[in-house]
Amino acid sequence: AQNPASPRRVLLKLSGEAFGGGEVGIDVQVVKRVAKEIVQAVQSGVQVAIVVGGGNFFRGAELSQAGIERSRGDYMGMLGTVMNCLALQDFLEQDGQATRVQTAITMGQVAEPYIPLKAIRHLEKGRVVIFGAGSGMPYFSTDTVSIQRALEIHCVEVLMGKNGVDGVYTADPNKQASARMFTNLSYQRALVDNLAVMDAAALSMARDNDMPIRVFGLEGEGNVTGALKGQRLGTLVHG
Ligand code: UDP
Repeated sequence: AQNPASPRRVLLKLSGEAFGGGEVGIDVQVVKRVAKEIVQAVQSGVQVAIVVGGGNFFRGAELSQAGIERSRGDYMGMLGTVMNCLALQDFLEQDGQATRVQTAITMGQVAEPYIPLKAIRHLEKGRVVIFGAGSGMPYFSTDTVSIQRALEIHCVEVLMGKNGVDGVYTADPNKQASARMFTNLSYQRALVDNLAVMDAAALSMARDNDMPIRVFGLEGEGNVTGALKGQRLGTLVHG
């Protein structure tokens, strides 16, 4: 955990679905708006690291259904995340925000390799660090990577920006009108009731290492800046 006197350092997880606006490829308007909101938070002194998903391009599990070997499909999924990283990097830089992309699969022309101590230095200098290519390992998810990176570079919480929902509910709010949103939720309940936070591997890593997760809606204007700055949006999942 961080020293309370030091600046707030957080890890923002953006799913590929958010980048694609529900389609394959990149929805430029969405990425632009998210970038602007990130810059506002950084300007107020928050240190922001980001893990980007890739579901708008490929998911290994889906490719394996279509007949591609699972591991190879997973590598395709990881490469997809890097395109999202570069798009986000571009809009951040256009807004005057210094950024570094670090990837778990080495690709020197487009990004630095993942070097945790260097990532921390970038954050201390006010740069946004974007982590791409997941963990570099098949059978993992970018959700798990977001918890692992947050732990390794000492973030105070993981902020899960969701599409189409603004927190964790007792049931799918788009299907059941009676569904209620949790303000607080324990790791254990989220796991046992299989609530829509993140996959079980990611959630149990958060539980075992006491990493709080805030699930919030990406869509509302100002939500990303608010969540980064510590506004109590959505649902806090904790011990
Ligand atoms: N992936 C992987 N290892 C990782 C992270 C991701 O193999 O450490 C692959 C996996 O196939 C996954 C895809 O990359 O489906 C895209 O990542 P993810 O599904 O986590 O993205 P999101 O759902 O956040 O868009």
